[in-house]
Parts: sequence; C-alpha cells; structure tokens
Amino acid sequence: MSGKMTMTKPIDELKPDYTRAMDIRGEPTTVCICGCYIWNLKVSFQEDGTIGMYFRDMECADCGTQATAPIEE
Ligand SMILES: [Zn+2]
Repeated sequence: MSGKMTMTKPIDELKPDYTRAMDIRGEPTTVCICGCYIWNLKVSFQEDGTIGMYFRDMECADCGTQATAPIEE
C-alpha cells in the first residue's frame, strides 16, 4: 500500500463528494483506494463508552467509496 497517511483536511471539511466514489465492498478494507483511512460508519456504544457494535457497511469520509469494515480480532 502506497500513499501518505496524513490528514490534509479538517474533520468538518471531510465530506465525500462522490464524484470518484466506487463500490469495493467484499474484502475487509482499512484504507480506501483514494488513500483516505477515515470512514463513516454506524456504531452503537456500550455504557462504558466503548464501541459495542458497528455495521460493516462503511463509506470513505473523503471520496464516498462504499467498503466493508474489518472485524476486530
Ligand atoms: Zn476514499
């Protein structure tokens, strides 16, 4: 995997524009094809504040590509 792992945008500007969005769902992914490693996905929290559950359908925060989240080991 090549590409710089740097955040170039403030979080409130990190919205997908979808013009380059693809659908790469299937194999679990941690880094998007565009190089972004921030994902929008749905989670629920436990009472202690840890993530209790997350949906495996996720969307790249930068380009909007649909991908599949990895499962925690
Ligand atoms: Zn992306």
